[in-house]
Amino acid sequence: MSKFWSETVKGITPYVPGEQPGAKKVIKLNTNENPYPPSEQVLSAMKAAVSGRLKLYPDPECVGLRQAAADYYGLSMENIFAGNGSDEILAFCFKAFFNPGETILFPDITYSFYEVYARLFDISYQKIPLDEQFGIPLEPFFEQNGGILIANPNAPTGKFTSVDSIRQILVHNPDKVVIIDEAYIDFGGESCVPLIPDYPNLLVVHTFSKSRSLAGLRIGLALGQSELIEGLNRVKNSINSYTLDAVAQVGGEQSLRDTETFELNVGRIIKTREHTVEALRALQFEVVDSRANFIFVTHPVIPAVELFEALRQQDIIVRYFAKPRIDNYLRISIGTDEEMEALYRALEGILAEQA
Ligand code: PMP
Repeated sequence: MSKFWSETVKGITPYVPGEQPGAKKVIKLNTNENPYPPSEQVLSAMKAAVSGRLKLYPDPECVGLRQAAADYYGLSMENIFAGNGSDEILAFCFKAFFNPGETILFPDITYSFYEVYARLFDISYQKIPLDEQFGIPLEPFFEQNGGILIANPNAPTGKFTSVDSIRQILVHNPDKVVIIDEAYIDFGGESCVPLIPDYPNLLVVHTFSKSRSLAGLRIGLALGQSELIEGLNRVKNSINSYTLDAVAQVGGEQSLRDTETFELNVGRIIKTREHTVEALRALQFEVVDSRANFIFVTHPVIPAVELFEALRQQDIIVRYFAKPRIDNYLRISIGTDEEMEALYRALEGILAEQA
């Protein structure tokens, strides 16, 4: 604890990101990146931006990227906000839409950054317990609140909440912003974006880090009616108008235009996921139904933490959360078929040793 820290900084518990092992060659299945690289179309646009644009500030309005997003989603540019990863957008949301003294709601098992932001921004919060099957119960979200945050599919479970359920939450909260974090929506879920014209309280957040293979660039989008987008712009332009650099803007734009590569990679990941689920169930794992690019698994005999360590010994990195209720689960990102085959062989070996 430093005497130089503000009272806020003394009181917070920062988010701990998943490990990034650097140059070491490992099978990295711990932070839900896409195993396939971005397309040549994306890379060549970025190379041109590197050689041509870097002495100038980037476009603070991100017009090219937002226009491509408007075309892709069938919305207008005024419905789109672009940020430096969806993490940044979520942080801005806390400043733009939530008030100290009004308790916001989010599930008790979800993306742990929500709680970190609530504490950083002094927003009180209540965590709503998931049901037995890790489903999100609806009624608690109909109670009076200061705003709502739901990841759909949820993380780290991968479980999907139906659009009809989200619609009910929107209907019960006409005066509060409901943020649906769709970081993993492209892997088989149904997006709430089509609800935007009917619900002024809906903000949908997307990321380019998962389905678009651009985790290293840091791009996220918020989609909603223009008054919500304007709220986010007010926050952004009070902190840093240039959060998205020029290279990321053109890379993101081309990614939205290159639907072929996007669909090919998403399709491959879904197929590999289904195959992996089957294979792990054959090893007696219980696997939560996933619509994400990761699976959440537990084994009836070997504790998750032991599996985590044993995989690590073989340079296979997955994610373990030492948290109540999920501390016997592993979250495993879906890699290439070869990587998942190596994971399967490793698990098979570990289980055989314990038998
Ligand atoms: N939301 C959820 C549910 C996530 O799992 C993640 C990735 N850790 C993010 C948002 C943040 O994604 P990014 O900042 O890379 O866009």
